[in-house]
Amino acid sequence: LSLSDPVKPHRICVCVRKRPLNKKELAKKEIDVVTIPGNGALLLHEPKQKVDLTKYLENQTFHFDYSFDENATNDLIYRFTAKPLVKTIFEGGMATCFAYGQTGSGKTHTMGGDFTGKSQNSSKGIYALAAQDVFTLLKQKRYADMDLCPYVTFFEIYNGKVFDLLNKKAKLRVLEDEKQQVNVVGLHEVPVSSVDDVIKMIEKGSACRTSGQTFANASSSRSHAVLQVILRRRNFLHGKFSLVDLAGNERGTDVSSNDRHTIVETAEINRSLLALKECIRSLGQNSEHIPFRMSKLTQVLRDSFIGENSRTCMIAMISPGMGSCEYTLNTLRYANRAKEL
Ligand code: ADP
Ligand code: MG
Repeated sequence: LSLSDPVKPHRICVCVRKRPLNKKELAKKEIDVVTIPGNGALLLHEPKQKVDLTKYLENQTFHFDYSFDENATNDLIYRFTAKPLVKTIFEGGMATCFAYGQTGSGKTHTMGGDFTGKSQNSSKGIYALAAQDVFTLLKQKRYADMDLCPYVTFFEIYNGKVFDLLNKKAKLRVLEDEKQQVNVVGLHEVPVSSVDDVIKMIEKGSACRTSGQTFANASSSRSHAVLQVILRRRNFLHGKFSLVDLAGNERGTDVSSNDRHTIVETAEINRSLLALKECIRSLGQNSEHIPFRMSKLTQVLRDSFIGENSRTCMIAMISPGMGSCEYTLNTLRYANRAKEL
């Protein structure tokens, strides 16, 4: 990877991030089945068995805008994915960044970062890094005179329902007006005047997300979390950056459960991730028809899929271990489909 900031003219950027093997996987002596040779390429070594029962690894090759190996930092990922999109919202556009992948693959690590309290080990995630750049640009001469005011919202979508993470998980209604404008009624939009303000909101919302008091049984891995940085100009919407930590995609292949609650939950996650893929593809094809009504997630993010100046990046997170191979393959196939044609 070159160290200069990337300039990608296209509207959709799809990349993959592989996390390191974790302690548990190392203890189990799991084999790392993902190789990233460079230039966006990625090889998955899928375990197979011949008819005579001898085992072998079959290589599957993928190509993405970028493929990041286990040595990549959040800073580096940010620089190649969300950072080039920050300018979009100053130019009156919509920017969206998705973290996709199986639970435990590093979505929240990438988006929210690890705030351990000990500043030495804590690493900022894309939320905070994007906020930092928003405030840097707000001070730049060419934008300082534009009268732009920044706000933050943070909400969660669980089982097709929207909950406000900045207001005690209040359940919110989503309404669509005659112009197809989608409105999340009563969503707290908090004015922010510094990066610290945004970080406070991230911490407040993240704590609210994991507290899990509103609904029984829910864990953050089964909900989508959306942090939005909004720019308003004399109260009118100017630009919006949506940063989305998606629900774990592994449930699509998990057929072991026959608990009704889990089945409903799974169906909803599958539906929303399918809808998301279709909406991103529509954006890439400049299609007139965007199937945003297919799920609450895409409905709420409708603005992200329309307009001349909408840009999206998807970061597909993968676990490197052989035990995750099936999920990893699913994730890579999904990301492959989201690519611009
Ligand atoms: P997800 O949100 O996809 O379920 P997490 O972000 O919570 O996954 O990651 C699971 C665990 O792995 C966390 O303890 C996290 O700190 C760690 N982790 C994830 N990605 C990385 C990485 N790139 N480098 C180091 N640790 C990571
Ligand atoms: Mg998570």
